[in-house]
Amino acid sequence: MRLAVNDINREPLGTASVDESARPSSITLDGGCRTILLQWEGALDEQGRLRRCPVCGCREIFRRQDFPQRLGLMLVIGTIIAAVVLIALWQVIWAMGVLLAAVVIDRIICVFTRECLVCYRCRTEFRDVTIDGSHEAWDLATGEKYRPIRRIETPRQDGPCTQA
Ligand SMILES: [Zn+2]
Repeated sequence: MRLAVNDINREPLGTASVDESARPSSITLDGGCRTILLQWEGALDEQGRLRRCPVCGCREIFRRQDFPQRLGLMLVIGTIIAAVVLIALWQVIWAMGVLLAAVVIDRIICVFTRECLVCYRCRTEFRDVTIDGSHEAWDLATGEKYRPIRRIETPRQDGPCTQA
């Protein structure tokens, strides 16, 4: 599996590849600067499906489209600007065409993007994992349960990375 690891404050720490069948107790993030401890107790079920975040131990994870969020935001903003400009120029048919094209592009991107699993607490993302109907999509009530209330101080790693 491929991990995009965040700390408990949901700050990105880095990425790493993990052979979940080996269940390593620690991983070194890409770049070699930081080592993360993993807790595999209950993280995988008998079928090898992820059930628990091995980074923070959270028991709840959700599935989502692995859609590049910046691309989605740019698509929405570009569509709104184009539609407003076209409506201001009394080109309502073209404006509707732009809106329809944006919907079609969005659906095409969704068809070709894969899904990933995300930890509710730390928001670490897990790619190249088995995802099936037992993994549920984002749930607002569960998300609120893990909404950060205050920043948790964690030891900082000072100084530049000395390894390539
Ligand atoms: Zn987590």
